[in-house]
Amino acid sequence: METLLFLAHVESDGSLATQAREALGAAREMADALSGAPLHVGVVGRDVAAAAGSIAGCGAARFLGVAGADFSQPRYASDAAAAEALCKAAAATVVIAPATSRWCRVLPGVAQRVGGRVDTHVTGISADGGAPSVTRWYYRQRMEATLTRAHRPWIIVLDPGCGAPWKGEAGAATVEVVPVKLSETCRRTTVTGVQAPPADQQTIRPDAGLLFVAGAGWTKTQPDGKVHAAEAAELILEFLRKAQASLGGSKSLVDLTGEGQAVLPFMTHLNQIGQTGATPRHPKGLSACCHGEEPHVVGWRFISERRAINLDPNCGWARGKADVLYVADAFAVLRRVNALLGEK
Ligand SMILES: Cc1cc2nc3c(=O)[nH]c(=O)nc-3n(C[C@H](O)[C@H](O)[C@H](O)COP(=O)(O)OP(=O)(O)OC[C@H]3O[C@@H](n4cnc5c(N)ncnc54)[C@H](O)[C@@H]3O)c2cc1C
Repeated sequence: METLLFLAHVESDGSLATQAREALGAAREMADALSGAPLHVGVVGRDVAAAAGSIAGCGAARFLGVAGADFSQPRYASDAAAAEALCKAAAATVVIAPATSRWCRVLPGVAQRVGGRVDTHVTGISADGGAPSVTRWYYRQRMEATLTRAHRPWIIVLDPGCGAPWKGEAGAATVEVVPVKLSETCRRTTVTGVQAPPADQQTIRPDAGLLFVAGAGWTKTQPDGKVHAAEAAELILEFLRKAQASLGGSKSLVDLTGEGQAVLPFMTHLNQIGQTGATPRHPKGLSACCHGEEPHVVGWRFISERRAINLDPNCGWARGKADVLYVADAFAVLRRVNALLGEK
């Protein structure tokens, strides 16, 4: 019989992130599929009561917590000690955790400490046939594998956007405190601050409903014989602000920006989508001024509905890569769309 542990850390405001709720949803489904397998909840943070209460209705057999000022900061030594203590206190055979940057850094080490195994970048979890299994992609998202493991404990780190977040009743949860004693050496690292762009300058938004991808065409000579990079930047930023979309770029465009040309100043290699870039998950995607070549489009694997705007009716998107291709001038389309969004 398996014993499941859903392992989470609280956010700075004491809540559980959407990503953590997605992992809880997957853990709950696995517990249900393995009828009778107990599900435990383990939470780490300065104060874990509110987070545990927010998922009180998840049917957990026990709520375990490692709490205190020492556990408020994401720090390898204290996070690893807390996660190890929770795995042991729950006597977990299968541990399911969200792939937050905080957990990704720590959980492979925790697997080593508890004599277990870990799988990261997991995109699906199931228990068909009574045995837990996971799916993950290999070779730049081209091959999907289904894996099972006999070794226990098995730590499974679930990527964001791969399942529905758990929804259910909040309430009062009785949290059993798991004591963790930290030595002075475990406290040496201190987070002194967070450097992040202001929210309105943040162009990568993993939770956005729409991915907007800009291609190199925005910087190319247009039918009037001129380049309109400044207007392109304005149109794109206005659209992102109004649609609250996430921004992606083709390799050609981000390379131009990286080479110091005055193109789209807010575009970096972090925005690159494709074989050598990112493979984000959004329900919808809109590409503009990008040709839709294969090394770019493989990054769209997890975008459910795809649309593209291109002057060229023979561009890559027209060859079965987009659901809808608008053969049009992207400058004109975005000007009009921004105006329509402005009227809303
Ligand atoms: C090993 C390898 C890995 C690679 N990895 C990646 C990757 O990860 N990501 C990636 O993106 N690429 C990658 N590439 C490069 C990829 O093959 C393409 O070269 C790149 O995606 C092209 O970028 P683009 O479509 O923006 O530019 P272009 O090919 O220059 O296309 C610009 C498009 O803009 C259109 N256009 C111009 N003006 C307008 C307008 N006013 N309105 C509408 N449309 C307009 C043009 O018709 C044209 O189709 C890789 C290549 C290799 C060999």
